Amino acid sequence: ETPLLNKPANSTNSSDSKNTAAIFKVAVIGASGVGKTSLLQQFMTSEYMGGVEISFDDESERTVSVLLDGEDTTMTFNEIEPQAASVQNYKTTDIDAFIFIYSITDKKTIEFVEERLHDVQRYVSKPHAAIVVGNKSDLVRKRQVKEDDARQLCSELHAKYIEVSAALNHRVDELLVGIARQIRFNPQRAPR
Ligand code: GDP
Repeated sequence: ETPLLNKPANSTNSSDSKNTAAIFKVAVIGASGVGKTSLLQQFMTSEYMGGVEISFDDESERTVSVLLDGEDTTMTFNEIEPQAASVQNYKTTDIDAFIFIYSITDKKTIEFVEERLHDVQRYVSKPHAAIVVGNKSDLVRKRQVKEDDARQLCSELHAKYIEVSAALNHRVDELLVGIARQIRFNPQRAPR
């Protein structure tokens, strides 16, 4: 049972409804080959999708609406190239959630995530949600990163953690809904 899906007790308070018109910005960060594009593609097929507007001119950016508790949460996912994932590029921008993706089959990719997560927690002052995603959970025999180690790291760095398989579409819906929930109900976030 993932804490990502826990429904906060105050989820029906009236300040939530004020936020529904906003478009939230989500930065997707991870090393090359970890499955960023595959995951975003799987989001598009989710049964939770209320509406999709893909900006075809820029494949790295997709705006989607997720239907959650009868309300739409609209988010723009922006895939950040590994070489562009430096804190200078997102320190001053208005990002509501950072999704850090690594592959459980490649230790180097969680090290990449750890460095970026450190930077974000240190230098990004705007309240934001941070979620670490261990992708490729289907490749059991190739696992290089233990789930417990990843969870430990995330709890130290105040990030949520979830393991998924973009290839098998396993727990991808939970991730998508979890991102929307973290953004909507992040107690640190000041209402707009
Ligand atoms: P990106 O560079 O981070 O955007 O990664 P891609 O989405 O292009 O994926 C890189 C490779 O990993 C592709 O060959 C995908 O098919 C494969 N891949 C992505 N997700 C998974 C997964 O969950 N399991 C497995 N076995 N392969 C995956």
